[in-house]
Amino acid sequence: MQAMGDSLEARVHEVQERIAAAARAAGREESEITTIVVTKFHPAELVRELYALGIRHVGENRHQEAVAKHAELAELDLTWHFIGQLQSNKARAVAEYAQVIHSVDRPSLVEALARQDREVDVFLEINLTDVPGRGGVLPAELEALCEAVLQVPVLNLRGVMAVAPVDEEPSRAFERVLGYAERVRSLAPEARELSIGMSGDFEAAIALGATHLRIGTAITGKRPAGA
Ligand SMILES: *Cc1c(COP(=O)(O)O)cnc(C)c1O
Repeated sequence: MQAMGDSLEARVHEVQERIAAAARAAGREESEITTIVVTKFHPAELVRELYALGIRHVGENRHQEAVAKHAELAELDLTWHFIGQLQSNKARAVAEYAQVIHSVDRPSLVEALARQDREVDVFLEINLTDVPGRGGVLPAELEALCEAVLQVPVLNLRGVMAVAPVDEEPSRAFERVLGYAERVRSLAPEARELSIGMSGDFEAAIALGATHLRIGTAITGKRPAGA
């Protein structure tokens, strides 16, 4: 049985209130912050319920799942954000339904995205761990990746994305992101946005200037088993 107040609606409202409070505490406007609800591993029906609650941005990390949900929900006025590791051979297909790709992390993926003609907003994902291959560009390769994106007219560079490592204080990790974001802005002054902040750390992310939060479990509840 569901505990009182533990409905999807209650969780959406609770998270929205926490976001508003964190924005106020940071002296920021809530309107600068886009909340993406990460619906991976949940059925299209959940996305429909979120839509009825006013959610307009959803995030997915696997192409197969995202393309199916998007097809099922094509009539809804949603913005689809792709946030997962993306194989180059899926790039074109993802650009068909995702208006924003947060996980651009290597030049070969940029090349693949350049071979299609849809305009897509992109974030450069930065790997904050010492483990290569985790998803995200290593900081040393950030400028080269940024230059590659800037060569492609259909790609709008919006900023940087990162996931705080599990073994580091999120605020410290996000402060490092601010330094990388500055490096990107010196090449692309318009690319000012920051996709940082998940269920466990979105308040810290807001304090440090997050413009895009990617929130899953705090809103959707636990992901189904196997996720
Ligand atoms: C799953 C996921 C999220 C959401 O994580 P929660 O901890 O459930 O909020 C955010 N960003 C990325 C890249 C993810 O894969």
